[in-house]
Amino acid sequence: MTTVANHLPTTELQAIDAAHHMHPFTTGKEINENGARIITSAKGVWLKDSEGQEILDGMAGLWCVNIGYGRPEIADVAARQMRELPFYNTFFQTSHVPALMLAKKLAELAPGDLNHVFFANGGSDANDTNIRMVRTYWAEKDQPERDVIISRWNGYHGSTIGGASLGGMKGMHAQGGLPIPGIEFIDEPNWWAEGGDQTPEEFGLARARQLEEKIKEIGPEKVAAFIGEPIQGAGGVIIPPATYWPEIQRICDKYGILLIADEVICGFGRTGNWFGSQTMGIKPDIMTVAKGLSAGYVPIGASIVSDEIAKVIGDTEFNHGYTYSGHPVACAVALENLRILEEENVLEHVRNVAGPHLKKRWEELAEHPLVGEARVEGLMGSIALTPDKATRAPFAADAGTVGYICRERCFANNIVMRHVGDRMVIAPPLVITCEEIDIFVDRARKSLDECLEKIRADGIF
Ligand code: PMP
Repeated sequence: MTTVANHLPTTELQAIDAAHHMHPFTTGKEINENGARIITSAKGVWLKDSEGQEILDGMAGLWCVNIGYGRPEIADVAARQMRELPFYNTFFQTSHVPALMLAKKLAELAPGDLNHVFFANGGSDANDTNIRMVRTYWAEKDQPERDVIISRWNGYHGSTIGGASLGGMKGMHAQGGLPIPGIEFIDEPNWWAEGGDQTPEEFGLARARQLEEKIKEIGPEKVAAFIGEPIQGAGGVIIPPATYWPEIQRICDKYGILLIADEVICGFGRTGNWFGSQTMGIKPDIMTVAKGLSAGYVPIGASIVSDEIAKVIGDTEFNHGYTYSGHPVACAVALENLRILEEENVLEHVRNVAGPHLKKRWEELAEHPLVGEARVEGLMGSIALTPDKATRAPFAADAGTVGYICRERCFANNIVMRHVGDRMVIAPPLVITCEEIDIFVDRARKSLDECLEKIRADGIF
């Protein structure tokens, strides 16, 4: 057995890729001019590309490969499940063991009375489920006019029509006629970029109180839910001020509005607890999960919902579901992944070992002339690049120009760090060791030095 076409030379693979493969969030120009970097295998936190280069993956794939690459137990479980029952659906009063056991396990792990699971294929379509679920919930409670969902600018909730509508990415709204009706936005709790002269605490409260203003503007009787990521990921790893989430919770409680925590990135240990909601001290009515649920080995997502919502939805027929809702192979893999997280004490590793070490080493980067803030929560972090630390000013060049150069330098130095505008973000596999963190941070500093050199030469700095 061989892996598909790994034997072809890189240039040939790149030419085929450029000719036929349409990439998410990539311009054709990037692919045609430079070609894609082709990843061929991976083990632990290390990727290998078609040129044989070994690259330290600071992004856990796409915020998901939390147990690291190449775990044979997962492959074995998937193969066994494929032999035993490769597919059956969960529609029309049927079930199977992997789906029901995973639902039970998620109910045990999820906080509060989040005891019921509706499966999806990933985070985007789980959020689509949430839109329909909360609107159906209120309709069943004889309040069909409660259909507005409030979200945040620069939040990310997926790429489907529903997910991208919930997200506050203006570049996404600009394509395909989004958002759908009934989605409203408030500003994000991004103190670094938007906090002005306020302290982070004042700013956190002010941003949370925009929710109350928005509810009053719309009319509380029309608001179904508020959705947010405990820590915004794709928006740039924006760790909100400590005052933010308690105030959001207070406002949701006051107006009886459902709170949806999008845990697609924060879930399953990323912040050192099972869920980011626990780290932020909130009690959601629904959690969206995906990514770390299967550590990215196979696609799966879910909405984990409260007893109350499940009861109301269960009283009617919810005309919703995906062919692969609760796919047996995906559920079996997710169960094995959760077993690994528990039995290998991965959350304790994040909380007590890797998280504190990354925080210490990462915060040292704040001394670098290009870096404003450098922040970490658990094993997700970001640095803000700036020409002026004191005023937190943006660069004169277009937003993202310097971030892109920095990302290129990281690639050249064999680490993966992503840029969001001029913020650099990381979310390595949760099993990363302290030695690997040291290698990563040393290479990140080298990349920052080279970025600084280049933007000085280009006259940007
Ligand atoms: N919600 C959040 C918070 C995410 O980060 C993502 C993916 N980055 C999604 C939803 C969408 O998930 P998927 O790509 O699996 O559809």
